[in-house]
Amino acid sequence: MIDASYLRLSVISNKHGMAKKEKKSLEFFTDWKYEPAIESTDHIQLKKQYDLFINGKFVKPNSGKYYDTINPATEEKIARIADANAKDVDIAVKAAKKAYDKTWSKMPAKERAKYIFRIARLIQEKARELSVIETMNGGKAIRESRDIDVPLAANHFFYYAGWADKLEYAFPNRNPKSLGVAGQVIPWNFPLLMAAWKIAPALATGNTVVLKPAETTPLTCLKLAEIIQESGLPDGVVNIVTGFGSTGAAIVNHPLVNKIAFTGSTAVGKWIQKSISGTDKKLTLELGGKAANIIFEDAPINQAVEGIVNGIFFNQGHVCCAGSRLFVQESVAEEVIQKLKDRLETLIVGDPMDKNTDIGAINSKMQLNKINEYIKIGLNDGADMYQSQCSIPKKGYFVKPTLFLNTSQSHRISQEEIFGPVLAIQTFRTIEEVIEKANNIPYGLSAGVWTDKGSRIFNMTQKLRAGVVWANTYNKFDPTSPFGGYKESGFGREGGLHGLMPYLKF
Ligand code: ADP
Repeated sequence: MIDASYLRLSVISNKHGMAKKEKKSLEFFTDWKYEPAIESTDHIQLKKQYDLFINGKFVKPNSGKYYDTINPATEEKIARIADANAKDVDIAVKAAKKAYDKTWSKMPAKERAKYIFRIARLIQEKARELSVIETMNGGKAIRESRDIDVPLAANHFFYYAGWADKLEYAFPNRNPKSLGVAGQVIPWNFPLLMAAWKIAPALATGNTVVLKPAETTPLTCLKLAEIIQESGLPDGVVNIVTGFGSTGAAIVNHPLVNKIAFTGSTAVGKWIQKSISGTDKKLTLELGGKAANIIFEDAPINQAVEGIVNGIFFNQGHVCCAGSRLFVQESVAEEVIQKLKDRLETLIVGDPMDKNTDIGAINSKMQLNKINEYIKIGLNDGADMYQSQCSIPKKGYFVKPTLFLNTSQSHRISQEEIFGPVLAIQTFRTIEEVIEKANNIPYGLSAGVWTDKGSRIFNMTQKLRAGVVWANTYNKFDPTSPFGGYKESGFGREGGLHGLMPYLKF
């Protein structure tokens, strides 16, 4: 993954021969103005109204209800979206069950793989359109949709297409079998990518799907439905139903659903776990996080600062594995914090469609309110706040990148998931202390370690209770590597060979 903001900074630094004179360069950077480089939107095709994608066709909802989906950067309406009720979900699940029984489970695996490859290729062909729609509907910077979300979504389909006819090699002598209908509910932070994480392994293992995107970001999933239609995938193999929490609940509780895959909040995850207890539905939950990014004194400091920035400000902090807690060793704390503040001033917050933008719009008004509420809580709890001096657009949902200094373990901003560009910073002296602090939290999704010592990295990875630990990097994703959490961050793994297992019985 290329961190474009870092590249941009380096280019300017080199051009003016100021890479090493960081203090001086800061004055220079704060004065720097970029001409807008707005991605065009005239090539995208969006309908005014989207129905439900069931049994290979777009059909009107039984509920008769629609809601507006908006652009969080402008607050303008983009399209009307069907709001599926329990009857709609029932039709979708029955279509998936029929497709499973009659077609998909009977098809030779190598034929199934061809469809999955075709979907991957079509995503690549329409990458530009998908990126623009992702940014319009979700608020994330176009650079991220274009360089991360969409290519990774295609890569997941490519990767799992490859496994479809090799399951007996993935699990030798275990005779893996598909489950039936997978019900999948996804959040708004990576709408297309989460759909790919869920749909690709389900299809590769021979299951059929009913998927619900988040209410605020349905558009790229509906474009994916069009791609699926174009790919010729047999009717009913993938069904996409839009709606709110009650639509998700109807999927979870449907008796013909054999497996639930959920990514979202811990509260809803717990509710799902309770509501399917006593059934034989399989479950994977990818829930919240409050990752610790840990900088030791021997770390390459500039690289670490860039990684911290990428870890929390990437995608407006709308990342379950965001490095939202920073632990910095006392001896380098002053230097790291100064560099972080300097770097904050160079981040460009604003129109997500501008290719210069680092931090786009917060996904919804509700999320914006939640982040602002946590900023107030941090201040009331006595932490020192540092915010970038940048201006933010008057319209749309935006937050300035925010650091909280001198936080302690007991502060709510150090314990609870904010899901925004807010970093809580603590210092530490010893390795034992930082392990204790990093682990002393209900979540365990991810962590980052910055040090020059390989042995320390291995020591830390064994002791940190986190599903993913990045070393001297952060927020790197690849379809071949498994992702998932401990504790209240959920269970089960997505990605890699591990990601096949939740969709199989042995
Ligand atoms: P977030 O706080 O990130 O919005 P949620 O857990 O509320 O996370 O939402 C994640 C997904 O779960 C969304 O698609 C949402 O509509 C869906 N959802 C919300 N409530 C329920 C529920 N009770 N059962 C199933 N899905 C739900």
